[in-house]
Amino acid sequence: MQKFFSVDYSRCVGGGLCVMAAPKVFAQNEDDGLVIVLDDNPPAEEHENIREAARLCPALCIHIDK
Ligand code: SF4
Repeated sequence: MQKFFSVDYSRCVGGGLCVMAAPKVFAQNEDDGLVIVLDDNPPAEEHENIREAARLCPALCIHIDK
């Protein structure tokens, strides 16, 4: 099954704008601040939040795949 989104972890610079946009889907590693995906198969009601996270991400590492 195709995922709704994917994350290019190698590009993440921390900062956590994705966490502010979609706190049920993204978190930050306590040590380095880099993104952690909490839910890689999120329900439809989270999709707009994830689109917003992708728009806000300064490193363009969140990709909407659907
Ligand atoms: S907004 Fe982008 S660069 Fe910032 S923590 Fe989230 S994934 Fe990483």
